[in-house]
Amino acid sequence: MINLTLTEALKKLNNREISAVELTRAYLDRIEKYGADLNCYITTTPERALADAAASDARRAAGDTLPLDGVPIAMKDLFATRGIRTTAASRMLENFIPEYESTVSQKFIDAGTVLLGKANLDEFAMGTFSKTSFFGAPVNPWQLEKRLTAGGSSGGSTSAVAGGLALAATGTDTGGSIRFPSAITGLVGMKPTYGLCSRWGCVAFASSLDTPGPIARTVDDTAMVLSAMAGHDEKDSTSSKNGFTCTAPLEPILGNGKKLRVGIIKEFSDVKISDDMKSLFEKRISDLKSMGAEIIEVSIPNILDALAAYYIIAPAEASSNLARYDGMRYGLRIEGRDIYDTFKKTRAAGFGDEVKRRMIIGTAVLSSESYDVYFMQAARVRRMIADSFNSAFEQCDLIICPSSAGPAMSLASDLSPLEYYALDLFTVAMNLAGIPACSVPAGLATNGLPLGIQVVGRRFDDMRVLQLAKHIETAAGIDNRPTTIMGK
Ligand code: GLN
Repeated sequence: MINLTLTEALKKLNNREISAVELTRAYLDRIEKYGADLNCYITTTPERALADAAASDARRAAGDTLPLDGVPIAMKDLFATRGIRTTAASRMLENFIPEYESTVSQKFIDAGTVLLGKANLDEFAMGTFSKTSFFGAPVNPWQLEKRLTAGGSSGGSTSAVAGGLALAATGTDTGGSIRFPSAITGLVGMKPTYGLCSRWGCVAFASSLDTPGPIARTVDDTAMVLSAMAGHDEKDSTSSKNGFTCTAPLEPILGNGKKLRVGIIKEFSDVKISDDMKSLFEKRISDLKSMGAEIIEVSIPNILDALAAYYIIAPAEASSNLARYDGMRYGLRIEGRDIYDTFKKTRAAGFGDEVKRRMIIGTAVLSSESYDVYFMQAARVRRMIADSFNSAFEQCDLIICPSSAGPAMSLASDLSPLEYYALDLFTVAMNLAGIPACSVPAGLATNGLPLGIQVVGRRFDDMRVLQLAKHIETAAGIDNRPTTIMGK
């Protein structure tokens, strides 16, 4: 049962071939069997899952079926869930039980999903391998014995979906945290247009970049999940009025003489990527050409400066957002001699090294001596990148580029902070510009590990991004069924 895609499972549920309780039990068994090895959940919620599933079966029996009724999902542990521990993978929030429900997780309840648990991640979503988690790193289900990273920061979500411990999951993408982990676990992961999914109740990292989005096994599944997550929210002032609704299967945008101009980014052709990534990217381009797409080279002149701009803006916003963890209102408190000593002791003990590093960088770039030279320059680069994407989209409809330079690396790799930051080269620019980007499997590298390609669109062109991703998915045709990648 765990090999069914979300779309297939929904069909079987609707035809009464399986029940939500049966499907949920199949997933709970997988969690029982592999949960500890993969370390993909910080908290599992089996009782809640079975209650959700029973309620779903009852709705179906009564004829009040909801869009994702009975679909077992994992929620990144950054979304506040009422009555269920929400940690952001930090010691600071190790025992935090919210009294409110995030808008996104509420939308999943409203869509009829079954909550399996809260997925592991990098602490406060800061990282690339999910190794900054206070609860230890999740593991990639591909070639499990090698203990590879499932990526980050949404690495618990991708580990769970790839390993068959959830049918779909939520992620958040501030600089690549949905797309990179999805790419290296053979999944589809979508960073929607900024503002399409509400940030309300989602633990903040860098508010002008944070983008909730879906992770699933196929593009159709991803579109279905996005449809449930998206929508205007009065509680988030940056929430867009544009919604996103769809039903699978998505309509083709190529073939039958349809015209589509697909851009490739000139500046990325000089970036060193693995031979496998290079050849798969070329293969997928020639597939698109043979389907009738016109391939056009476009230029985003400042795109290689996106990393530098991102690593100024994101820490600046983080240092401000994380000031709220002071040991007074909620979360960890370590009593000191006086209030200042309590602040210091609490923050010293509650945050891990990477989070502290970001707050130090962020505080520095926001200081009066540095503001003009660092923060304002970064903001300017951000504007130029967004403008360049706008002009590129006058020449082409959609853009494609690699999701990463290479496949999953070992969790044991010892990278410096700058080496980790450099891995975000292909993803951060889209966050700076606020535009939609979806990573879709491009094929398998020679060592058998999956690689991904991104489809990028103009603001609110999320539907066409997914439609083109689906053509790439079909052309690549990788087998990402959980039982074929990690056995029964
Ligand atoms: N790897 C990037 C970082 O560490 C992106 C993280 C994210 O998108 N949440 O900031």
